[in-house]
Amino acid sequence: MIFPSLDSDASGSPFGRQLRDGFNTLRFEPGLEKDFRDYYLEFSRVRVQIAVGAALALMLVLVGFDYVISGEEGEGAVRNVVRLALLLPMLGLGILTLLHPDLRSRQQTLFGVGATAFGCVSSYIAVTAGVDGATHLFGASVLLVMFINLFLGLLFHTALFASGSVALSYIAMGALFGLPGEVLFYQTMVLIAAVAIGGVGVYTFEHAVRRGYLESRMLSELAQRDGLTGLYNRRLFDDQVSRIWRQARRERSPVQIILIDIDYFKVFNDLYGHQAGDDCLRKVAETLNAAAKRPLDLCARYGGEEFVLVLSDPPRDYAETLPERLRRQVAALGVPHEGSPVANVVTVSIGVAMVTPGEGRSLAGAVQMADEALYQAKEEGRNRVIFREAFSSITTGSFRAGRRRASDAA
Ligand code: GH3
Ligand code: MG
Ligand code: MG
Repeated sequence: MIFPSLDSDASGSPFGRQLRDGFNTLRFEPGLEKDFRDYYLEFSRVRVQIAVGAALALMLVLVGFDYVISGEEGEGAVRNVVRLALLLPMLGLGILTLLHPDLRSRQQTLFGVGATAFGCVSSYIAVTAGVDGATHLFGASVLLVMFINLFLGLLFHTALFASGSVALSYIAMGALFGLPGEVLFYQTMVLIAAVAIGGVGVYTFEHAVRRGYLESRMLSELAQRDGLTGLYNRRLFDDQVSRIWRQARRERSPVQIILIDIDYFKVFNDLYGHQAGDDCLRKVAETLNAAAKRPLDLCARYGGEEFVLVLSDPPRDYAETLPERLRRQVAALGVPHEGSPVANVVTVSIGVAMVTPGEGRSLAGAVQMADEALYQAKEEGRNRVIFREAFSSITTGSFRAGRRRASDAA
């Protein structure tokens, strides 16, 4: 994935910020929360599959148990019919939720509503059975509260709502249908304890999962960032650019590769010191990164004082004017450079390749084209932009009319 773009400094990781700010309410800021939900879905996948399977098995055991105790006639049989009529469609829906991508993204809501509905009906069955003297069903209600909290993969707030509803509905119906006072009092205590114990369990678990998510995201982000400038590093660039390239080839859309190299930077270091050199690199990096606005845009530190910006399918006008604008913006930073023969401030040379991937056009070739353009910019006196362009030999409807069909038109 491409992480949210940097704030103004390298330490502006949204994951680090969330770790510092804490998350005791078990909610991240909206952007992270969504990513976490996806992560959690994957994280809890196998556990939830096992839980749904276990629910089915457990339910069949309970049905069998009730059958043996109550016989095939009377209340027990009616309860079993109600249970199965309720449970089987719900398990079907549960399995469908796990399998179907559209439903899967709503798993929390569906499972939460399902568990609450099933739980309330179970409370009704258990209470009416209890009033008739079949008090053993109370145990199943306690088990259900624990199951909802700990095995269904529900996040804390949903789990607490569902298990709390089951407990409350049991207590309310117990009072309504006239369970004996001391029995109801005892069962109320047990149910409250079960909700509390399960609640603490699911809270602690979710808190740990959220911490693990933030830490692992931060680590992989660190591994992809350049420590000095906070831009993506070369490794990440190599990964991402081939993805961008493949997508552009599928869509037959152009890719713009912009290589930017600071002029006379060795002299700058010699004159002002390495620390000033580092500060200068950070400023230039920030200026360039601001141009990577769209989700697929990529700005990276390519080498020592060399940067790369990749835009996929940029609007034509934007692509043509951006490199020159970047050159001006860097000069406008006004970082003094008395050792430069071309200006009295730090400047950059820029080589641009605009290439539509296709037969005979490789990514390496496109980068080389930008590199040659950069070399030419240096040769011709630095502090300038050289633009090269090549279209694929394949023409498709996606080409706009009026484009030059030229190879390497400088
Ligand atoms: P040109 O105009 O041809 O690009 O000349 P140049 O001096 O910029 O290019 P050259 O490749 O000769 O020198 C690059 C310099 O960049 C050398 C190195 O000391 C400096 N440099 C590379 N990485 C860093 C860094 O992380 N910090 C600092 N301060 N300097 C760096
Ligand atoms: Mg240089
Ligand atoms: Mg260089």
